Amino acid sequence: VIEIGQPEHSVVTTCAYCGVGCAFKAEMRGEEVVRMVPYKDGKANRGHSCVKGRFAWGYTNHKERILKPMIRERIQDPWREVSWDEAFSFAAAKMRGIQKKYGRDAIGGITSSRCTNEETYLVQKLIRAGFGNNNVDTCARVCHSPTGYGLATTFGTSAGTQDFDSVEDTDVVVIIGANPASAHPVFASRLKKRLRQGAKLIVIDPRRTEMVDSPHVKALHLPLMPGTNVAVMTALAHVIVTEGLVNEAFVRERCDWSEFEEWAAFVARPNNSPEATAIHTGVDPKALREAARLYATGGNGAIYYGLGVTEHSQGSTTVIAIANLAMATGNIGRPGVGVNPLRGQNNVQGSCDMGSFPHELPGYRHIAGDAVREQFEAMWDVKLNPEPGLRIPNMFDAAIEGTFMGLYVQGEDILQSDPNTTHVVAALSAMECVIVHDLFLNETANYAHVFLPGSSFLEKDGTFTNAERRIQRVRKVMSPKNGMADWEVTIALAKAMGFEMNYSHPSEIMDEIAALTPTFAGVSYAKLDELGSVQWPCNDKAPEGTPVMHIDGFVRGKGKFVVTEYVATDERTGPRFPLLLTTGRILSQYNVGAQTRRTENVVWHAEDRLEIHPHDAEQRGVRDGDWVRLTSRAGETTLRAEITDRVSPGVVYTTFHHPDTQANVITTDYSDWATNCPEYKVTAVQISPSNGP
Ligand code: SF4
Repeated sequence: VIEIGQPEHSVVTTCAYCGVGCAFKAEMRGEEVVRMVPYKDGKANRGHSCVKGRFAWGYTNHKERILKPMIRERIQDPWREVSWDEAFSFAAAKMRGIQKKYGRDAIGGITSSRCTNEETYLVQKLIRAGFGNNNVDTCARVCHSPTGYGLATTFGTSAGTQDFDSVEDTDVVVIIGANPASAHPVFASRLKKRLRQGAKLIVIDPRRTEMVDSPHVKALHLPLMPGTNVAVMTALAHVIVTEGLVNEAFVRERCDWSEFEEWAAFVARPNNSPEATAIHTGVDPKALREAARLYATGGNGAIYYGLGVTEHSQGSTTVIAIANLAMATGNIGRPGVGVNPLRGQNNVQGSCDMGSFPHELPGYRHIAGDAVREQFEAMWDVKLNPEPGLRIPNMFDAAIEGTFMGLYVQGEDILQSDPNTTHVVAALSAMECVIVHDLFLNETANYAHVFLPGSSFLEKDGTFTNAERRIQRVRKVMSPKNGMADWEVTIALAKAMGFEMNYSHPSEIMDEIAALTPTFAGVSYAKLDELGSVQWPCNDKAPEGTPVMHIDGFVRGKGKFVVTEYVATDERTGPRFPLLLTTGRILSQYNVGAQTRRTENVVWHAEDRLEIHPHDAEQRGVRDGDWVRLTSRAGETTLRAEITDRVSPGVVYTTFHHPDTQANVITTDYSDWATNCPEYKVTAVQISPSNGP
């Protein structure tokens, strides 16, 4: 970090990386950040931070940042710098032209979980009210969409049940498909503190993560084969039901009893026992039985999970299975328990809350609901289309079929982050207008006709909502280097397309959100300034917010048990592809690295490596540090090998922070049955020695 002198003033804002939502004091000298200091009164971080929030903000000043709008007629043409006005006119003419030629539904847009609630709200408003269709989706499609589906189905709300403070009352921590030590480090520190105080830890993960290896913590690790989460969850339920460990009083009072009985009869079948399922899961039945007993009888049990749960063809089923377990044991509705999705991006929760899904208006209300739609129609002064729009993968399919021709992408590199890169390239190449609104010329921009420069979190006002539903202020600490904050860009694009949106400050956008969204009814910038943050629902019933949900009853009324049949993924190993690849992150880097690689944090990460068990490495003549070719049915990439027993025989693992790795070149087309979330966490692969890329 380059120190540029003593700070003159400071501004409290929120980290723009992970879903923990750490508050920072940006210490400023004029318009330059001197340093980012973790804010002691931050409710999510209490003065702590990790190396991303603390050091990885320099991308704002990076020389590769694009600050001027650019346009081009064809993607083969060179970019031409233009004024903002010319860029908006060009983009609007293209998008309106597409609608005239192909119909109203031939365009759409994608919101970003990196942007603020207010910016996300505006993009979906532009699409629903300005484009006249519901072709809006979010990058949460590829991470936590199964959380939305699974928790809405069982509990009635698409969000985690607890605040982070709740962990202090937890006796048994269950972590499934997540590595908070790398991906949610500040919350991981609180978890570890509670574990050092004596709470027990169960980790369900194909890899021996840093949480399993934490000093002074004895973890019960269930190293399952990738793709078998549902079988393991059902086997845990089998033990709880067949050994009489169900909290019957809770279930009778709070849940639908007949649905419970149907579920209990299903999980009790002999083929769902730990012994019978071990053949697929690879999990030691004794350890699994011990874990089930510990969770059901060890006191307050809290489940935390991540993308290792959601990014599967049965992602939604696993979320439902987790909710079933929590209800069966009465581990819901008080501090210390609950079901807690650990959100990867800073505003995944918020982007989903703000109506980014093609079937839902803000607050998770279905677009087909006449009463809700009429409320929005009155406020926006338009007639809304009641038909749900296209999800991201459907947009790509429609583009290849020639019926979807224009896309506005805010703050996401879909070419790198979505599965099956070849298919995405074909879809983008087929479109007549792709508008990329971002900080850098990302991979998607290679297929764009309009580039609108984005603004960083330091350059705008707004709010983010973290993994515990906590709404926090993002405060502008410097003027946008590109001249316009992202919310202003969306308003100007809408105006050029003939749809006026009039706001002079993001606080007015939040006021509109509050007026239209019952769970946000009590939220305002004045309240956020006064209280520091609030957790939704925040309304007349809970004016200061709701740290723990479902205390007196589930949002949907009775908790719903759902039978969760295990269906093996279609991605199978075989003689050509005998190993299963799964993926994760390291502490210093973030997702595809577009931001962290352009900061001081680059010193901690030179390359992604492929972890291989010694047995598999020896069979293939691979030594530690060797280059290996990683091949799947979809494609191939080259990485260096790291030989380790962190992974089991038959499983390999890599991170995906470096663009050269191109992990999504080898991932499959399979996706969650309910939400189309891609199955990133299971790919059948083969490894062979290589001379390097
Ligand atoms: Fe906190 Fe996450 Fe930012 Fe790290 S990346 S400082 S844990 S919000």
